[in-house]
Parts: sequence; C-alpha cells; structure tokens
Amino acid sequence: MAEQNPKNERYKARQEKVKAEIDARIDAAQEEKGLFLIITGNGKGKSTSGFGTIARAVGHGQQCGVGQFIKGTWDCGERSLLEQHGVDFAVMATGFTWETQNKEADTVAAQTTWTECKRMLADQRYDVVLLDELTYMITYGYIELEEVLSAITNRPPMQSVIVTGRGAHRALIELADTVSEVRNVKHAFESGVKARKGIDW
Ligand code: ATP
Ligand code: MG
Repeated sequence: MAEQNPKNERYKARQEKVKAEIDARIDAAQEEKGLFLIITGNGKGKSTSGFGTIARAVGHGQQCGVGQFIKGTWDCGERSLLEQHGVDFAVMATGFTWETQNKEADTVAAQTTWTECKRMLADQRYDVVLLDELTYMITYGYIELEEVLSAITNRPPMQSVIVTGRGAHRALIELADTVSEVRNVKHAFESGVKARKGIDW
C-alpha cells in the first residue's frame, strides 16, 4: 500500500481550509442587488469584457441596453450580433471623430446618446446596461459627472451597469461595486500591426 505523503496531506488540509473559508463567505453574501461595474486601465480588453457580460446576460434571457460613446461610424462586431438578440443600442451620432475638434458638435452628439442612456437607466425592464467608453465623455466635459453619478445611483435597484474606458473618474470608482483595471503588458499595435476585424472591433 502506498505510504501517505506528508506533503500531499498538508496540501489537502490547506485546500480544505481554503474551501471552508470560501464556503463561509458565500453563505454570508446574502444581499441581492444590481451591480455597478467599471472596467478601466490602459490595456486591451475593456469593451470586450463589457460586451462579454452583455452576451452572458442575453444568454440568460435578460434585457440589455448599450450606449456606445465612440466608434459611431465603426462597423462594430458586437453590435451586429447583439442587435439580432434584442439588445438596444444608443450609438453616438455618426460622423463623430476625435479629429473634429468641434466641442459644440461633439457635445451635442454625446448628449443625444446620453439622453438615450438615461432612459435605459430609468427603465426597470433593463437588467444590464453597458456604457461603453463613457469615461472619456466625462474627461472631455461633454457629459456632467454629477449627472452620471445621479443616473447610476437612482437606477432601478436590480439593474446592473457597466462603464468602460480609460481614466475612470475617482468619484465613479468610489460609487462602483466592482472595479477592474486592465494593465497594458504589450499590444500588437506598438510593434506596427494593424487593428484586426474580429479582434479589435
Ligand atoms: P477592446 O475593445 O479590444 O476590448 P479596449 O476597450 O480595452 O479594447 P480602447 O481603449 O477602447 O480599448 O481602445 C480600442 C481599440 O484600441 C482596440 O482596437 C484595441 O485593440 C486598441 N487598444 C487597446 N489598448 C491598446 C493599447 N494599450 N495600445 C494600443 N492599442 C490599444
Ligand atoms: Mg473600449
């Protein structure tokens, strides 16, 4: 008969302790509420994470809405797919680009999309609302921070909201339940590779 390996025994004991601790935490987490999540940071993967969560919710039959604050003219893969599955999109008016340098026109475009987003954030039929690249609208002063904080705070209690974009304002981070920062380790673009359909948009 194989002799008991003390290393294995210690490993098993440690794992059992970890499992007991996790089980206790799962039992203790009784609160049910919609969550506010932020995916920020300089690495690639923020919008794809937001859309991945929308796909997850759609898979459970939940109603979802998406506000997209840049790339209005882009042919976005997620949008093409998710619209076919009943996800409502509010996309910043076409023609919006960072090159326009026309603050007035850009503010109007951002405000129009934000009005749609506020409607979703006030409607309890939406289980999950994704506000993709919203952080920049606050940074550039196209949308008031206070308005965003208020719409998110006053949303229906079971509704979840995801905000993506670099440089999330600290007041948003404070309000959020879950915040993840995607760190850039390296990106193909830095070595001269073009953005790819299906990977980058
Ligand atoms: P994705 O939409 O792929 O999840 P993201 O939302 O994290 O990316 P954004 O800052 O919104 O990133 O930028 C969108 C585009 O810029 C994508 O094409 C993405 O591949 C590219 N990108 C993201 N991070 C970097 C980076 N660190 N360097 C260069 N390009 C990047
Ligand atoms: Mg993005």
